[in-house]
Amino acid sequence: MAYIIQGETGDWEIVIGLEVHAQVTSKSKLFSGASTEFGAEPNTQVSFVDAGFPGMLPVINEICVEQAVRTGLGLNARINLTSVFARKNYFYADLPQGYQISQFDKPIVGEGELVLDMPDGSTRTVGIERLHLEQDAGKSIHDMHPSKSFIDLNRSGVALMEVVSKPDLRSPEEAGLYLTKLRSILRYLGTCDGNMQEGSMRCDANVSVRPVGETGLRTRCEIKNVNSIRYVQQAIEFEARRHVDVYEAGGDIRQETRLFDSVKVETRSMRSKEQAHDYRYFPDPDLLPLVIEQGFVDGIKAGLPELPDAKKARFMAEYGLNAYDAGVLVAERISADFFETVAKGRDAKIACNWVMGDFFAAMNATGKTMENPPVSATDLGGLIDLIGDGTLSGRLAKDVFALMVETGKAPAALVEEKGLRQVTDTGAIEAAIDVVIKANPDKVQQVRDGKTTLLGWFTGQVMKATQGKANPAMVNEMLAKKVLGE
Ligand code: MN
Repeated sequence: MAYIIQGETGDWEIVIGLEVHAQVTSKSKLFSGASTEFGAEPNTQVSFVDAGFPGMLPVINEICVEQAVRTGLGLNARINLTSVFARKNYFYADLPQGYQISQFDKPIVGEGELVLDMPDGSTRTVGIERLHLEQDAGKSIHDMHPSKSFIDLNRSGVALMEVVSKPDLRSPEEAGLYLTKLRSILRYLGTCDGNMQEGSMRCDANVSVRPVGETGLRTRCEIKNVNSIRYVQQAIEFEARRHVDVYEAGGDIRQETRLFDSVKVETRSMRSKEQAHDYRYFPDPDLLPLVIEQGFVDGIKAGLPELPDAKKARFMAEYGLNAYDAGVLVAERISADFFETVAKGRDAKIACNWVMGDFFAAMNATGKTMENPPVSATDLGGLIDLIGDGTLSGRLAKDVFALMVETGKAPAALVEEKGLRQVTDTGAIEAAIDVVIKANPDKVQQVRDGKTTLLGWFTGQVMKATQGKANPAMVNEMLAKKVLGE
């Protein structure tokens, strides 16, 4: 399982810590009433506060505080009843205030943890260092004019939660699993939509390497603002390999900030990494320390939904699913709900097989989503019922399912319309068997001489003769009797 880079001089392991900027789901910004809606005309959602006009005062948005606390609780983290907003000073054209209001030494959320669901069904716990609230900057657009840059301040002042992991991740794959799980938890909580394409979740990866067996941390490089899970993994892989090559050539890694080029699949230096003291952090004099009450926290805690880990454990205990299936089904609340609707009052294993198998395959094939599924949970449940009561064989059910995807019709209606009902009439099956036996006396003899594997061939012939509608169990039973003369 361990991910090792084999170098010229020996084996190396990767040490990864991730910082995720997750946009808080809220109607208005962290310190102003301007809208946060995505996709508006540039610079139409900008208050004087967001534009950094002199004399404007920030006012904290209580919903954003609530969302940060909710997320902290979802990460089993310590909630700090007193936290402090600080100014992080730097100059950039899309940061009109000249500083970002963030949290420095007193974040709203302290240490927590996140459980990775490994592909083999096992789990691994990764430490969360902290979660703090901060403002987003505006957006610089450099590709609209040959010599000018444009600035869109719609995003300026939007609330972000920066979730910082401990350097506990050891492979690109684990980094991917961490991001997937974090996004899943955020979506369950409704605190961030997790949409990486729209930039509502962006990841910075801190990467270093060390020889296997070494315990200290070596110099890390930070890869900034990667906006897809696959890119994060590619960036880590490239960066780690680069470190190994530098060390093995006798060089040293400089702490720096790097950019990932998704076309060339490489990272390159952006600037030498600033240290915290470069930002001249100090408590924002426009804002009082943020003090929340335990009752406020308790109230949010009482309203938390069942989260992925708890749901996964319940699916395993209540429905007897294995860890992998349960993990896939609970990754999104909507697919978990879909499964539970199908499984309700039915055999959960069969329900799971249909959802994980034919249903997900149909979703991929048709390009549909859980929000607009190719077959409704009610109809899929109805199909399973038709197998249960003997109307359909497993084989016919697959055909009916394909028709359900194609036509959107309910399974019972399709069975009637297409005459797909399974033949359980012994007379009809017997007649079909007799025809096959009569046409193949040599094969009948072979079976009687002990070549019983040929019975499968007879089953196939009878199923073919009945256009797949004969009940396979009945065919097998009657064939054995007739051919073997039992
Ligand atoms: Mn940040």
